[in-house]
Amino acid sequence: MRVPMTEYLEIDLDTERWQCRRCGHDLAAARGNYKTGTLVHDRDPREIHRPLIDPDRYEFTFAPDPAWCRILEYYCPGCGTLVETEYLPPGHPPTFDMEIDVDALKVQWAGRPAGTVIPLGRDVPVNTGYVG
Ligand SMILES: [Zn+2]
Repeated sequence: MRVPMTEYLEIDLDTERWQCRRCGHDLAAARGNYKTGTLVHDRDPREIHRPLIDPDRYEFTFAPDPAWCRILEYYCPGCGTLVETEYLPPGHPPTFDMEIDVDALKVQWAGRPAGTVIPLGRDVPVNTGYVG
């Protein structure tokens, strides 16, 4: 059974593996960090947050300093979907942002019929009663 975890990530409880929800590409062990199976783009933050004033005339331009901040983008190697983004100091390893108790997840999903769908992300219908 495949359990959706984010808009673009799911866990296959039979194989205990992270997978891309868009293309099914196998990413990493579900008990580990899914980011180890992704492609990483280490971006200069000035590409995203461009200087607001002329960098040739001013030292501080309101753009993040790439010597202090990097933007890491994690992509699925199978389909190229951007699955996560984070801001980190240069050289910092990817964070471990989701540590899943796979055994508890298996118990939770054991009683549900095969094919159970829990909508997440853009597939969530309007008026579900969700209060955010
Ligand atoms: Zn994919």
